[in-house]
Amino acid sequence: MEAGRLFVAGLPQQVVPFTLHGQKGGFVTIVPPDEWPDYLQRAWQDRKQASTTGSCPCGASIVLPMPQRGLRAASMEHEDDCLVPDDAFLYAVGRWAQRRDAP
Ligand SMILES: [Zn+2]
Repeated sequence: MEAGRLFVAGLPQQVVPFTLHGQKGGFVTIVPPDEWPDYLQRAWQDRKQASTTGSCPCGASIVLPMPQRGLRAASMEHEDDCLVPDDAFLYAVGRWAQRRDAP
């Protein structure tokens, strides 16, 4: 995952505004590189959808256990093969970057 985290840290960022459960927010995310293969582009789109609508294509929905703390306390239970969670996404990016840079 570390390789993915390093790769993503070097990318330009953008903020995607959204309103969810009546609260305005901003999804801080990267600008996905054109060189990314389709599965990473799709994973990034899915992350954006999950973060800005509260619903992930894998079927997960946002859970707000402590509404008084707002969206910061939100969580989602994703399917095992879903690439939306940070760990899975960063691992996939790292795998791709290592393969791209392999001699
Ligand atoms: Zn998911």
